[in-house]
Amino acid sequence: ILQLYGPLNQFGSSYRSLQKNFIDMEKMLDLFQEPVEIQDQPEAKSLEMEGGEVVFENVSFGYNPQNPNLKSVSFKIPHGKKLALVGPSGGGKSTILRLLFRFYDPTQGRILIDGQDIKTVTQSSLRRRIGIVPQDTALFNETIGYNIGYGKIGQDRTQIFDPPRPNIPRRRISSSGSSDQGGKSTKPSSRGRKHKNGSSGNRATEGGEDADVEGDDAEHDEDEDWEDDCQIQAAAEAARIHEIVSRFPDGYATRVGERGMRLSGGEKQRVAIARTILKNPPILLLDEATSALDTQTEREIQNSIESISKDRTTLMIAHRLSTIVDADEILVIQRGEIAEQGSHEELMQAGGIYAAMWMQQLREDRTMTSSSHSSQKE
Ligand code: ATP
Repeated sequence: ILQLYGPLNQFGSSYRSLQKNFIDMEKMLDLFQEPVEIQDQPEAKSLEMEGGEVVFENVSFGYNPQNPNLKSVSFKIPHGKKLALVGPSGGGKSTILRLLFRFYDPTQGRILIDGQDIKTVTQSSLRRRIGIVPQDTALFNETIGYNIGYGKIGQDRTQIFDPPRPNIPRRRISSSGSSDQGGKSTKPSSRGRKHKNGSSGNRATEGGEDADVEGDDAEHDEDEDWEDDCQIQAAAEAARIHEIVSRFPDGYATRVGERGMRLSGGEKQRVAIARTILKNPPILLLDEATSALDTQTEREIQNSIESISKDRTTLMIAHRLSTIVDADEILVIQRGEIAEQGSHEELMQAGGIYAAMWMQQLREDRTMTSSSHSSQKE
């Protein structure tokens, strides 16, 4: 942790200056490469969250209204439960996720969150409550720390999350160091100066420096930066990417993306998981990667997905059926309809489409294992 503080510290000032810039929804939508077609109703209210129950009520939708891609889809995800969507390509799984995030409105039927039709609430209040872990995460040409911290911002500038606090001791914030005393402008340089000689390390372990912080606005800001940095690191740890970042040349200050260090598909997905942990949304949309990951990476991603989906209402598109054996409910989506519905055991017993998909995947896994064994022998 101490070795990492320097790079984290450098990253923190760019992260906080970013927070000052307005990043609007269009930019977020660019990331998901989706058009902006939806307008708030004039009387739209803020979404009131209770538990996070999601209901689709006879939802139909077509990108082209003459040709419906979803036909009267109904399901309910009780608060904190996990629903998995499986089925052939083009069946309508992603469309269900897009409708819940309200990229589009249904042509018929309603989508309710805690009893409120999402058409009647503001998009910002809706999207603030939903975290997305897409298959392919877009990274900014920025530091890895910035990319992880991005989840905290960019949707709404009001307090939108209550991130978990990392278990790292920190200094008491000075009672006189309030942020309205004009000290903000000195923050980045003060931060840099304070930790240039590596003394920053003491900060994590020594509480006795409080005396020289009293009345120092810049120190107050440093405290905020420190808190942000700690939160980013804690999220990275939970998403199992912290160790990887620690091996980067400049830790969290390492530039990633097109013009920086390239991350693998699995690493990018872990960045998305860390972003979501920071955002701490009650509802989670997951799109499992289709790209082949090695078994170890797949297991690690699976573990971090399990830890973030715990106690959150989760809607997940699954490609590897082994990852959803424990889902509370599985829907098989085919040609825009729910073809089958039930738990893994129920669907296996039914011996229908899901059971056939399961057997097919088992055969493919066996073929892959035996071919990798024979290539190892060669
Ligand atoms: P996959 O597993 O391949 O991602 P999916 O089950 O998620 O498939 P969707 O992406 O929801 O399927 O697509 C459902 C149907 O809607 C498909 O026929 C697809 O071609 C069509 N579709 C998806 N996005 C658009 C769009 N933006 N405009 C027009 N048609 C679209």
